[in-house]
Amino acid sequence: MQNNKEWQAAFSVIEQLEQAGFEAVVVGGAVRDAILNRPAHDVDVATNALPQEVKAVFERTVDIGIQHGTVLVIVPAGPVEVTTYRTDGEYTDHRRPEEVHFVRSLQQDLQRRDFTMNAIAMRRDGSYIDYYDGRKDIEAGVIRAVGEAKVRFAEDALRMLRAVRFSAQLSFTIEELTLQAIQQKAADIAWVAKERIKAELDKLWIGKDVYNGLKKLEESGLIDSLQGDFLAEHWRGFTVQNPVAGWAFFALLQGEQWQEVLRTYRLSNKEMAFVKAVLSAYQAFQNGWTNMDYFTYSLAELETAHFFAQLKQPFDIPQQNICEAKARLPLQQRQELNVNGLDLLQWSGQKKGPWLKDALHKILTAVVNGELANEQSQIKNWFERNYSMMDE
Ligand code: ATP
Ligand code: MG
Repeated sequence: MQNNKEWQAAFSVIEQLEQAGFEAVVVGGAVRDAILNRPAHDVDVATNALPQEVKAVFERTVDIGIQHGTVLVIVPAGPVEVTTYRTDGEYTDHRRPEEVHFVRSLQQDLQRRDFTMNAIAMRRDGSYIDYYDGRKDIEAGVIRAVGEAKVRFAEDALRMLRAVRFSAQLSFTIEELTLQAIQQKAADIAWVAKERIKAELDKLWIGKDVYNGLKKLEESGLIDSLQGDFLAEHWRGFTVQNPVAGWAFFALLQGEQWQEVLRTYRLSNKEMAFVKAVLSAYQAFQNGWTNMDYFTYSLAELETAHFFAQLKQPFDIPQQNICEAKARLPLQQRQELNVNGLDLLQWSGQKKGPWLKDALHKILTAVVNGELANEQSQIKNWFERNYSMMDE
């Protein structure tokens, strides 16, 4: 695990900081994931060097969050985020601290972290610094707040949703006092920026145990303070790779108001378009997909809608058939059609108008259905034969 590129880059950064007389360790998610044998995406380094000191040690650095003590260090093995040990200042609005204080002690830095499993540091020699028994909790599959849970959630309400998201990602339980504290503080989630909430839900949807996450959302009471309907029961067996597929399923469960509800989570236009397509492919699936459906929707949209239909009522069409049905179509894209609007204008001698779009659509449908070859002269014949139908 630790011999992948990200870890090598982090260790080389630590080595150079140590040579310059500083202390540095890997912290946070990467250490947790290494213990769990899960691949890590970001291997973050924490150090007692101040940001300016970090910048002086390395040739290439980028200020990515210098006011919070984070400098991006670029070494041959890749970029590494290096953050100065810090404590958080006053929390005034249940979200972010007003200011951060740089400190020289790792223990203070670990103390500000949310859960014991996220508060373990690893030295370059592979040994751990684990003041809060995070490894024991990881072994037991428990999410436990560092320090007094109620206080930690009062400081930053997002941590409550992070607990739930981790329960979905790791299939962990939430320790009793930590869970009770969420039950007491759940309403504070309303203070948190919707973008941060969305980012956590994005991770929840692609967790390996989404159902567990949704159960925790219910048990913790957070469910009542979030927009929309999160009833856990619907999510049994739900697993997807792409967060937008999670939003699509969530949308499906919202009924008529799905657009309003999803908008509160600030989905991008692209994400909204995917959700919309999946919902409409799902609708179309109820009567069986036509060639035109296979043509209109992307493979990802079809597979997602198919998975939803499977979840609601298990049946027996493997996903591979979708791919095959799509591949069998006479054409894959609109641009492959061998005629365009100009051809039709020329053949008909008519002016542009709504008829044109309609005629093109009818031709496309006939070609996609295999009733008409995708060939100029044949399409011209077909157009002239059927022309009176469209001529109005
Ligand atoms: P992921 O694998 O999803 O990236 P992560 O644990 O690395 O999970 P990040 O959001 O990348 O989560 O944060 C990195 C580390 O910073 C965490 O492991 C934790 O120690 C600390 N941290 C992050 N967010 C908070 C928070 N809201 N409150 C306290 N500590 C936090
Ligand atoms: Mg991370």
